Amino acid sequence: LVRARDVHKAFGPLEVLKGIDLDVAAGEVVVILGPSGSGKSTFLRCINHLETIDQGFIEVDKEQIGFRLKNGRLNKLGSRDIAAQRSKIGMVFQQFNLYPHMTALENVIEAPIGVHKQNRAEATRHARELLTRVGLAEKVDAYPRQLSGGQQQRVAIARALAIRPRLMLFDEPTSALDPELVGEVLATMRDLAKEGLTMIVVTHEIGFAKEAADRVVFMDGGVVVEQGPPAEVLTNPKHPRTRSFLSRFI
Ligand code: ATP
Ligand code: MG
Repeated sequence: LVRARDVHKAFGPLEVLKGIDLDVAAGEVVVILGPSGSGKSTFLRCINHLETIDQGFIEVDKEQIGFRLKNGRLNKLGSRDIAAQRSKIGMVFQQFNLYPHMTALENVIEAPIGVHKQNRAEATRHARELLTRVGLAEKVDAYPRQLSGGQQQRVAIARALAIRPRLMLFDEPTSALDPELVGEVLATMRDLAKEGLTMIVVTHEIGFAKEAADRVVFMDGGVVVEQGPPAEVLTNPKHPRTRSFLSRFI
């Protein structure tokens, strides 16, 4: 579903991504680990076209992000086509960024109605279903300030799912949460993984990587240093940099 090749990204003189290659199959759950500043967030943002890349390409669902092949030539997409590509991708950030003046339900139906022009009844039905799926059936009419951090993040997950994405990107979704609230969000993500959603998850939750990931990718210095099944990468890392990174968690 995702194919990234030789992805480079610099901010001025700072080279952040130095040739990322990564494939993600449909239904696969990939956890990206790596030290701070290694380019994990930047890479996710490139997949979702929140950043444009300098070199290489990223394909999602057989379409090159930001470009379209026309008469044998790659053409840069305009903002409307980019929005269409992005609508296949859901993203959940560390900060949930819910609209404070909207209820949980209103937050979830906002994009389907506002951006995707779905009818309100259908969007509302789907939103209730999603909020139920993330364990918040009781909270559809609550405002963000009436919800715990974990509940807010689950609303954010439901909101990302509301556009029926083919791919979900999670960037440290539990890092801003109090420790006792981390578990409920990870449980929700585990359920989504079991249902066959394709997910790329940046997280420091090694336990989640162990249980839920099909593959663990270790990034450092803007490249993929090592990747493989969690049982291999997490318990028997080959690369010294992976080893030294993981030793922090034991
Ligand atoms: P963390 O684990 O701390 O979230 P990360 O692996 O997600 O780190 P990135 O956020 O991708 O790292 O950042 C990689 C590098 O790129 C950092 O040095 C950061 O300061 C820099 N960077 C990111 N975004 C920008 C930007 N918009 N302008 C300039 N530099 C940026
Ligand atoms: Mg980051």
